Amino acid sequence: MKEIILLKSGEIALKGLNRSTFEDIMAKNARRRLQPLGEFKIWHAQSTTYVQPLTEGVDMDEAVRRLQTVFGIVAVTKSCVVEKDFSVICPAAAEYFAEQLTAARTFKVEAKRSDKAFPMKSPEISRELGGYLLSRFHHLKVKVEQPEITITVEIREQGAYIHADQLPGAGGIPVGTGGRAMLLLSGGIDSPVAGYMMAKRGLEIAAVHFASPPYTSDRARQKVLDLAQELTPYTGRIRLFVVPFTKLQELLRERCPEDYFTILMRRYMMRVAERIALREDCGALITGESLGQVASQTMQAIGCTDLACKLPVLRPCIGMDKEEIVRISRKIETFETSILPYEDCCTVFTPRHPKTKPTVAAVEAIEAEMAIPEELVAEAAEQAELNIIRY
Ligand code: ATP
Ligand code: MG
Repeated sequence: MKEIILLKSGEIALKGLNRSTFEDIMAKNARRRLQPLGEFKIWHAQSTTYVQPLTEGVDMDEAVRRLQTVFGIVAVTKSCVVEKDFSVICPAAAEYFAEQLTAARTFKVEAKRSDKAFPMKSPEISRELGGYLLSRFHHLKVKVEQPEITITVEIREQGAYIHADQLPGAGGIPVGTGGRAMLLLSGGIDSPVAGYMMAKRGLEIAAVHFASPPYTSDRARQKVLDLAQELTPYTGRIRLFVVPFTKLQELLRERCPEDYFTILMRRYMMRVAERIALREDCGALITGESLGQVASQTMQAIGCTDLACKLPVLRPCIGMDKEEIVRISRKIETFETSILPYEDCCTVFTPRHPKTKPTVAAVEAIEAEMAIPEELVAEAAEQAELNIIRY
């Protein structure tokens, strides 16, 4: 039986964007996501995107699961397609849904007829097909309110589509329609979630990670590569830069008052990240900061961090509780990797009493006195090791 997947895209997002650009990028992302399963033909018609396998024996359930992570899609439906002939539709519905109809106790049929040339009207299609299915599955009962399974028949231009409930898509806006941004990716819980959230708003994601060997281990570095890999179902390919941060961190520890260490380190991270971001054609930085979560994330500290770079810094987790961030992290399946207990460069040389309300004036005065040459920042950015994280 011929199967096809129907996609519904987010209408609200279409407002600000050229519709065909939006649809083309979404289709490109969908095709890339499906590529390991085989070849597909994807086209748009009447506010629906059709995904048809061209390869034999494609795992259509896996295709549906993969499409559920593509941003810009709000609903995914696997459907069978038959001739627009009622005597074909009835047995096809019974066969296609045999398993579900055998397991269910209640059902209903809904019909939509966009091809008005079809001789039966929608209520008649529902009634007749319902009757047919009752005659084939004797245990079934029709239930209009909340049946266990709803079978929908859509009579469209190209054929009759028979499907059950649509599944939720990832929502959002297709990755790549909004430009590119640089995610500061630590090994923690928050930054992968931040990357996911901004990809959902249409940004292509590049990433930078600061490593301080020998204070941070190779396992910690690998953990970040793994996290980036886990983000790719949503973001697509990621260019991840691992920055050698040891030299800068050691200099900072040597030269700055202990209570200012964290805030100064964060400013240097922003500077290095910005350099790589500009090189990589990124229009913003992204962090996983959440207001008040730790000493370096008070309003005052964030104010000082912000002033270290010119690019806008997007902080999608800023108003979220840890619990909310954890919930998303579990949903996108980065949580288990995030909680592996390896040290991060943020946790080496941590001051005992970090300044929670630093002033810009004080921070700038200390930086002037430390006199860390800008070349060291440039060097860290240049020496960053590029890892291309594929699907
Ligand atoms: P996360 O859970 O994302 O690690 P956090 O709550 O541990 O965040 P911090 O360690 O203060 O908070 O880091 C705040 C943000 O700074 C992170 O969300 C991340 O964007 C960035 N960051 C921290 N450490 C690193 C690192 N080693 N490499 C890249 N970015 C980092
Ligand atoms: Mg962290």
